[in-house]
Amino acid sequence: MNSGILMKEIICLGIESTAHTFGIGIVTSKGKVLANSMDSFKTKTGGLIPNELADHHNKVKDKILKNALENAKIKLKDIDLVSFSQGPGIAPALLVGLKFVKKLCLKTNLPIAGVNHCCAHLEIGKLLTKSKDPVLLYASGANTQIIAYEAGKYRIFGETLDQGIGNFIDAFARYIGLGFPGGPKIEQLALKGRNYIELPYVVKGMDISFSGILTDLKRKYDSKKYNSIDLCFSLQETVFAMLTEVSERAMAHTGKKELLLGGGVACNKRLREMCNIMCKERKAKFFIPENQYLIDNGVNIAWLGILMKKTAKKNYKGIDIKPYERTDDIKINWK
Ligand code: AMP
Ligand code: MG
Repeated sequence: MNSGILMKEIICLGIESTAHTFGIGIVTSKGKVLANSMDSFKTKTGGLIPNELADHHNKVKDKILKNALENAKIKLKDIDLVSFSQGPGIAPALLVGLKFVKKLCLKTNLPIAGVNHCCAHLEIGKLLTKSKDPVLLYASGANTQIIAYEAGKYRIFGETLDQGIGNFIDAFARYIGLGFPGGPKIEQLALKGRNYIELPYVVKGMDISFSGILTDLKRKYDSKKYNSIDLCFSLQETVFAMLTEVSERAMAHTGKKELLLGGGVACNKRLREMCNIMCKERKAKFFIPENQYLIDNGVNIAWLGILMKKTAKKNYKGIDIKPYERTDDIKINWK
């Protein structure tokens, strides 16, 4: 047997377009990141409007591909495999990725791997932090889940019952006149807050919910009895404690000794601090990938493409988007 062929390093180009970001990452099968190019939709006022996202992605997609190939110092002919975020996500945004990937593959005849966006966050975290069997606290715009591997799947041990934590933070930010994304701005305001204003603390079993807290925050803001700095501070203290609590319970239940963060909200220093304290108290290891891999990006998708290479398809006809796909729909056949 020729071990040289078995060991051949392959290169995957991954496309992310589930929500606000159109990103292309290029990764080798040895886990080397060659490029991470992206452009994210932003607004001064208002939020994510599906058709505006699609327009944004359509506008930037060719430039992002060019940047990614230039940064990686390779040509399209050097790519062995293409992967794309199949779901979950916002359908018009996902469709831009699907059309882009099909066009690219019709031109190059490359195989396509459709990947689950949430699983991709977990796998890139494992690759980059060398964590082995973590509980993932995935705190992003649209998704908020506590995920861990059990019996052939990434199981969801707890999740939001309504909106994702990032969307919740962004909605309050929008309400008080900050643009999108609001998370970093709320974090800056919260740094100056000193007075904790009591808010609903909504943990239901292993699940959490944000919509009641959002209503309460809006009411308090409208009453003009509270300043926005203290409200932002209290928002962070409350919802990050909720996330830390359910993450800890998932670790206790599964007996896992590692916590990994994923998703854009994991850029927040106060959330990291709370998780760090919890991990220290239970003598668990705590892992955070670099910020560029926490937010939506193509590298996550390219790496899961590499892991799923055996199931990649050359017949593109049946490949479609899966806007409502859940993490625990996926049978993990790449471990
Ligand atoms: P993602 O959907 O994973 O790309 O993450 C985007 C979300 O992360 C948006 O809702 C942002 O407001 C949020 N986000 C980014 N940075 C921060 C931060 N420092 N603190 C809180 N939320 C953040
Ligand atoms: Mg994400």
